[in-house]
Amino acid sequence: ISQHNPTLTWTQYTKTLEQQTRRNVDITMKLRHAIAADQLALYYQPQVDLASGRIVSTEALLRWHHPQAGFIPPDQFIPLAEQSQLIGPIGDWVIRQACRDLRAWHDAGIPVTPVSINLSLIQFQLGSVPNSVHKALSDYDIAPELLTLEITESVFEQHCQALQHDLEALGTMGVRLSLDDFGTGYSSLGHLKDYFFDEIKIDKSFISQLDDNPYPQAIVKAVIVIAEAIGADVVAEGLELTSQIAIVRQLGCSKGQGYHYSRPIPEPRWRQLLMEQTSLG
Ligand code: C2E
Ligand code: MG
Ligand code: MG
Ligand code: MG
Repeated sequence: ISQHNPTLTWTQYTKTLEQQTRRNVDITMKLRHAIAADQLALYYQPQVDLASGRIVSTEALLRWHHPQAGFIPPDQFIPLAEQSQLIGPIGDWVIRQACRDLRAWHDAGIPVTPVSINLSLIQFQLGSVPNSVHKALSDYDIAPELLTLEITESVFEQHCQALQHDLEALGTMGVRLSLDDFGTGYSSLGHLKDYFFDEIKIDKSFISQLDDNPYPQAIVKAVIVIAEAIGADVVAEGLELTSQIAIVRQLGCSKGQGYHYSRPIPEPRWRQLLMEQTSLG
């Protein structure tokens, strides 16, 4: 389209856009049936104590498998779910499924660890979050401290009347609140002043640069110091290498998750890990 890419003509560019739009419309139509057709699943990624490798909690990550289109990653379908407001029912499904799984593990006599789920701003705009969480906890008889709600910093970029009130209500309910992808959003520090978070997750973009660059180390250190000062836990995301684990530990971070320990895995395999109380090295 520009002089930087003279090989792509305007016609080709428009065609690519058209194809993209058509694909998005198609995905959104398929997404409408995903819950009823039982195509959604939660995968679980362990969060470990970095000193011992012991599993201390887990993040539930949404997976969608369509029988024809195959596996569609959340980075593709979550934005479409948000645009179409399907994130309302899908988000409610995630909240309930996490609680259903917690109940099933507990009933199977498995020592349960807390579960983190991801929420989108649109869910708060739709006005359903505190009620949905309260109802799911009570329907499945789950202690609120077993549930952590992750919201990305980007939720603060748009004005949302309900957000402040909802986060306070959720805090009062006793669920834990976690600030996801910290450092990537706009005006990160301001949000820590206005809202209470039990946990801060350091974005994986900082972790992936730890090896070859002193600045990410300084930033990660600063985040850990701030978190300590406000009494929040810190979780390092995207730990892939032992060298990265050594650095974040040395900087004072005690908890993390990443491919080094495990990818997100289907519920039966996660249940197996929980049962075995596996230490991940
Ligand atoms: P997130 O909440 O920041 O989740 C972490 C993402 O990093 C996950 O991608 C996870 O699979 C991936 N990851 C974990 N360890 C590593 C690692 O060591 N290296 C690398 N490169 N990646 C790692 P995933 O599952 O594709 O999810 C992408 C994003 O989609 C999530 O980012 C979250 O923002 C969103 N998402 C996922 N599930 C849900 C959901 O149920 N509801 C909402 N609203 N958003 C969701
Ligand atoms: Mg997350
Ligand atoms: Mg994250
Ligand atoms: Mg993310």
